[in-house]
Amino acid sequence: MSVGHAPILPGVRKSQGEDDGVVPGAYGVGVTWKIEVSADRCMASGLCVATAPDRFAMDGAAAVPTAEEIEPDENVLDAAETCPALAIMVTENGRDLLA
Ligand code: SF4
Repeated sequence: MSVGHAPILPGVRKSQGEDDGVVPGAYGVGVTWKIEVSADRCMASGLCVATAPDRFAMDGAAAVPTAEEIEPDENVLDAAETCPALAIMVTENGRDLLA
């Protein structure tokens, strides 16, 4: 008997150890997240690029999102939570997903 994952509600993180990355449909159809990086705060550690290389890139002395609007991606939340400068903001319909 296989046991599936419980449904994930919008903005609700999965437990650590579960699958990471894009979770198609888990956050609802058509849900998008907005990613912003504060160039003033970013200390160019590159950690976000290492954590979510398809979502962040270095641009000079600061990281930038590769796209401002994305499908829900757990790796982006991981990158934001581990950013040493707290420079990454992730929102869904204006709601801060890291609050
Ligand atoms: S993890 Fe934070 S401080 Fe490091 S490059 Fe990314 S945004 Fe900048």
